[in-house]
Amino acid sequence: AKDLGKNNVQFYHSGMKEQLLKRTRLEELLLSGLYRGEFEVVYQPQIVARTGQLRGFEALLRWNCPELGQVSPADFIPIAEETGAIVPIGEFVLREACRMNGELYRRFGLQPVMSVNVSPVQLKQVSFADRMIHIIRESGIPAERMELEMTENTVIDTIDTSLEWLKRMQSFGVKLAMDDFGTGYSSLSYLIRLPIHTLKIDKSFVRDMGKRRSHSILESIIQLAQRSGFKVVAEGIERSDQLQRLREWGCDYLQGYYFSKPLTADQMEEYVRLNCSR
Ligand code: C2E
Ligand code: CA
Ligand code: CA
Ligand code: CA
Repeated sequence: AKDLGKNNVQFYHSGMKEQLLKRTRLEELLLSGLYRGEFEVVYQPQIVARTGQLRGFEALLRWNCPELGQVSPADFIPIAEETGAIVPIGEFVLREACRMNGELYRRFGLQPVMSVNVSPVQLKQVSFADRMIHIIRESGIPAERMELEMTENTVIDTIDTSLEWLKRMQSFGVKLAMDDFGTGYSSLSYLIRLPIHTLKIDKSFVRDMGKRRSHSILESIIQLAQRSGFKVVAEGIERSDQLQRLREWGCDYLQGYYFSKPLTADQMEEYVRLNCSR
């Protein structure tokens, strides 16, 4: 038993060391990757439920690391947050999304809403609102065509500072969305007091729609949100039966693999030609 215990301890330690190494290496690679142009923004369409037309896109980050290959944002964003690298990375995403928005207008006459994810670490910065507003102004894109997505816990945990930022950005004209709605600990009555335009229903609700309880929870969230004056986005739509229900329930905008995977800049052009011709 003693030997076994010792082995276990050793095994545990070497596993930890490996993890630690990987982590430090990741930290180094993140910032240098940003400056070497290894990050790419892809764009997932959002569809107007009533008309089937394009509402806009969510900008999603991709990292093509020469050493590690394609790294998922779920793996590198927590580390980028810990090291603070998420601040320049997040600003890169916003700049890219603004640039793409301008390009879609110049080349195709489109005026989509571009949604960009904001990390809690960005929101905690003293200069957060100034920096976001500055980047959007500089791009020349009308503020109403940019949307910032944040999760509910992010906003509530930093409410002392974030409320002021949110109000400033609202008066600037930027749309504000609550991401992963339904997974956090806020209530609608609380959110009504915040300057938020859009609620994005978490994809776990859409995934579990087949289960009776999730079904009725989802239906009441959508109805309540709409009566409270929010626009509602459902994400993670993969099948036509989900789409149909969400339409019936009056969801405003729809997003998911059923419509399209996130698209690279090159794929955007083809998508627009096929789906947005007038
Ligand atoms: P999120 O903001 O909830 O983004 C939605 C995720 O769902 C994306 O994963 C998207 O590719 C995926 N998705 C879209 N449609 C479907 C579908 O029909 N079924 C399923 N199962 N999944 C779908 P992705 O791109 O891997 O991003 C993961 C998370 O990483 C995001 O979750 C977001 O929290 C974070 N993230 C991505 N880009 C950024 C960024 O630029 N900044 C920050 N701070 N976070 C980001
Ligand atoms: Ca999001
Ligand atoms: Ca989400
Ligand atoms: Ca998320």
